[in-house]
Amino acid sequence: MTRRGTGTSRVAVVGSANLDLVVTTPQLPRPGETMLGEGFRMVPGGKGANQAVAAARAGADCAFVGAVGDDDFGRTLRENLTSAGVDVRGLRELPGPSGVALIAVDASAENLIVVAPGANAGLADLDDADRATIAGADVLLTQLEVPLPAVTRAARWAHDAGTTVVLNAAPARQLPAELLDLVDLLVVNQHEAAVVAGRPESAEADGSLDALLALVPRVVLTLGARGAIYADRDGRRLAVAAPTIDAVDTTAAGDAFTGALAVAWAERAGPDTTGPDSTGALTDVLRWACAAGAACALRPGAGTALPTRTEIDALFATTYAGADR
Ligand code: ADP
Repeated sequence: MTRRGTGTSRVAVVGSANLDLVVTTPQLPRPGETMLGEGFRMVPGGKGANQAVAAARAGADCAFVGAVGDDDFGRTLRENLTSAGVDVRGLRELPGPSGVALIAVDASAENLIVVAPGANAGLADLDDADRATIAGADVLLTQLEVPLPAVTRAARWAHDAGTTVVLNAAPARQLPAELLDLVDLLVVNQHEAAVVAGRPESAEADGSLDALLALVPRVVLTLGARGAIYADRDGRRLAVAAPTIDAVDTTAAGDAFTGALAVAWAERAGPDTTGPDSTGALTDVLRWACAAGAACALRPGAGTALPTRTEIDALFATTYAGADR
């Protein structure tokens, strides 16, 4: 995607960092079942750190505000962010364990995840330096794997500074108006959409979108292999198809999508919190994010699978060349 203007977009991420302990298995185990896995690897993850690395690889100047423990995992997590070029001046080291995610991935690339938050749960107080980072960014990107007061404070500071607030409501929960009122763009998958909207999961996506637009002005709903839908309170609704691929592991596809979306949004909208000004630009932003999600699903792992700008551009070009926008 061609950048608008000359500057690199600035994305501040306030969120979690976890070490993912990943086992591949023929099928996912049922409750109470013990299953022999086939392989094991440790991969830096956490939605916050993943989306920060995703944004940095997608071409943003990215700063991360979060917390790791005073253990080996914490050092690995810090090094992972640094080596992706993420500014880690806002990364605290707190006494105790780092966050850990236990992940099983089956032969069909379906996954099952349990998170022990560790230091992420201690990210309570943000300080003046964090505020300056957030105020200096085009986009604040945040999720729900760190305490809600920290998310809300970051969103308040962003809102006051004219920084666009992008909330990926994962893991899903219902949210207080205090936070929802600060959100410019909500990014959710189908499960998260239903939970945030307070609707049954079997409900039609359209109904969830309408319910979500009563809470926030703009929503992006991701639909896995079927792509994504954008909807806003001005009545704009756009459905974008995802690239057709042979998925290997969809673990961080949502993080790749969301990180790239934040970058593209900042590049196409600049400091305008209402977003890209034309339907064509908005379509490009969504397609580019879909290309990032699909490129991520082509490789195993979470953090290590996040695509570079060149990889996203390549899949975007081959998928959408000549398509209407
Ligand atoms: P999450 O991982 O948060 O549940 P999704 O599964 O909806 O999110 O995936 C996020 C995005 O990644 C999708 O909107 C799509 O663009 C891309 N994606 C995910 N899985 C696939 C797939 N199997 N084929 C193509 N694109 C995919």
